Amino acid sequence: MIDFHCHLDLYTNPLEVFCEAKRRKTIILAVTTSPRAYIKASKYFANSDNIYIALGFHPELVQKRVNEIEDFIKLLAKVRFIGEIGIDGSPNMRNSLTIQRDFFYAALESIEHIGNKIVSIHSRNASKEVLDALSDMSGKNAYILHWFTGTVAEAKRAIEIGCWFSINPKMCSSSKGQSLIRSLPIERIIPETDAPFTTRNNKPYMPWDMSVVEYIAKERNLSIALVQKIMKDNVERLLATGSSM
Ligand code: MN
Repeated sequence: MIDFHCHLDLYTNPLEVFCEAKRRKTIILAVTTSPRAYIKASKYFANSDNIYIALGFHPELVQKRVNEIEDFIKLLAKVRFIGEIGIDGSPNMRNSLTIQRDFFYAALESIEHIGNKIVSIHSRNASKEVLDALSDMSGKNAYILHWFTGTVAEAKRAIEIGCWFSINPKMCSSSKGQSLIRSLPIERIIPETDAPFTTRNNKPYMPWDMSVVEYIAKERNLSIALVQKIMKDNVERLLATGSSM
């Protein structure tokens, strides 16, 4: 299984989930929410071929932790995986929009300058703005729109830009999410959970959860095994981004 955006470090029992994911060979992009959390997570979740730790700075935290921006930019040069970063334009986040934007644009500039990065992006209530920022990117990096909630027209634009989409179980159960998923080419889809923030029956989703694969199989009238294979191929293609340079 694949979970390309989960907060492994924020489960109540992170080490147990980590060990179980290792045992199951679940491919995980473990995003983090601040540079300090990234450093901690990289130590905590060491020695695994299938679990990638991403350097993140959640848009909701950037204003509160401006002093970590420099750390982020320094670390960025050394890492392959980045996330989550992005812009959150929700009403309660508007007072930090300027600093969110400044940080996100600076991060993108470094990412583009260096290349060869895999980036998981938050765009809640800011899909147009995020796509505007990504529209003149070079193709040297892979940008994954995590839990994209923009319109179908915006998704089309994102596809043209070359973005990937990580899809979670909550998106599969809302009508807006369903029409978005329907509009996406299967070659650009990767499963995620965003757990432990997403739950079913009050329990966080686990990285090896199959709901997204099952949903896509049903929606596209394909076998679960085939969808699993396509998702795996997608991750391989995604991970090859930039490697030929
Ligand atoms: Mn997240």
